[in-house]
Amino acid sequence: MNARQVLQQHVTWQLGNGSVCGAFGQPWHSFWTQVNPSSLRQRRLSVSHFLNPTGQWDCGKLIEEFGFAIALFISMSITPPLLGQTRADRLIFTYARNGQFTLKKAYHLVAPEVALPTFPPDLLRLIWHTKGLLPRIRLFLWKVLHNGLPLGDLIGRRVSNISRPCSLCGFRAETIQHALFKCPWAQSLWFASSLGLHTDDLPENISELLKTVLGSEGEDIARIVANHLWALWKLRCIEVFQGKNATRQSFMALATSYSKLAVDAGLASCRAVGPTPQNCSQSGTATCLVDGSYVKPHSAGWAYLLSNAHGKLLEYGVHEGHASSPLQAEVKAMLHATRAVLSHGVNDCVFHTDCSNLNMVICGYQSAEQLDWSAYHDLLDVLYVFRTNPGFHCSLVPREELVVVDVLAKFARLNNVSYVGNTFPIFLPIGCNISEVE
Ligand SMILES: [Zn+2]
Repeated sequence: MNARQVLQQHVTWQLGNGSVCGAFGQPWHSFWTQVNPSSLRQRRLSVSHFLNPTGQWDCGKLIEEFGFAIALFISMSITPPLLGQTRADRLIFTYARNGQFTLKKAYHLVAPEVALPTFPPDLLRLIWHTKGLLPRIRLFLWKVLHNGLPLGDLIGRRVSNISRPCSLCGFRAETIQHALFKCPWAQSLWFASSLGLHTDDLPENISELLKTVLGSEGEDIARIVANHLWALWKLRCIEVFQGKNATRQSFMALATSYSKLAVDAGLASCRAVGPTPQNCSQSGTATCLVDGSYVKPHSAGWAYLLSNAHGKLLEYGVHEGHASSPLQAEVKAMLHATRAVLSHGVNDCVFHTDCSNLNMVICGYQSAEQLDWSAYHDLLDVLYVFRTNPGFHCSLVPREELVVVDVLAKFARLNNVSYVGNTFPIFLPIGCNISEVE
């Protein structure tokens, strides 16, 4: 690309008073390249030299210096500069509407197809209009689509000492497709997640790929996939820079925590992972905090705290019992909690748990068979209760929000206590702050 040629084609003089623009060798008429100054005198002549005292073209002078044909062209097609005008001549970049030259405009001029990439409009709409997504996740998807993530392939092209192969597997160039979907590390996480995604079969082209994973199953799935994608990116960064291994549990817990954040920010419904929007902030929806406690080989305890829509305690329960796994303790806690809620005649209730597997099963994103067999039968009972009570919903919350029930569950396990009450537990163990419950 010859920059000089490009500029010659797109730069012209806008005549003001004609005193600055040279008459020879300057782009002020179409044939300017055909007339070069042959003498020093010609070199010094400005356009204003060719005006007569009335401000019209002096045809004699034009013919004398340019020859008849060009003189005719100038006098017929170019408005003479105004004598006495104060505005000076200026160079104009004809490609820009305001005449100003900028590198950006010049780039558009020489590489229009590179400067303006196009994406399927429905994909862009999906990214900006899917409800319940955190703004940072929208921005992340936007970067994915525009190849804007700081990965080896992109940076390695510009900085020679940054390697281009994948930092985790080393097999392939670290492109966005590879890092987020095709790398064996990412493949195993996607497949093990509740989505069970086979990323091998996905298209190589990133916009086709995003369209397949985000656009084929409706908005609710698009939101879940987007949350998972962001979680995967975070875990990848942690693994690459801090060397901490990602697990299936950490992947799913992180993804669901973004749903929770979106709920807290008022961007989504209260259901952490759920196919239908729920309006849980309505008056009349009770809240039940649920937690289990387990220690090998089978010592367990569980607890729940049920409050009405105004935060008033309706009932709490602590139970000691047997379980074969932490999941089974959680499931038993949920089962007891649902029975307690039903016994109060409450039809609308959100059950808060910190167990992502339990939440996934209740919300229908994982089957009970895939989980710990020891919890299977209790899980079926829990599922039955949720299916027959459409006002019951499950919400995944961070562990810190369940501190009180966690303490109660441990208390029940350690002291072999089972108790149900509707005033605050008088036997609350040390470390449990009552004001947190109130
Ligand atoms: Zn890789």
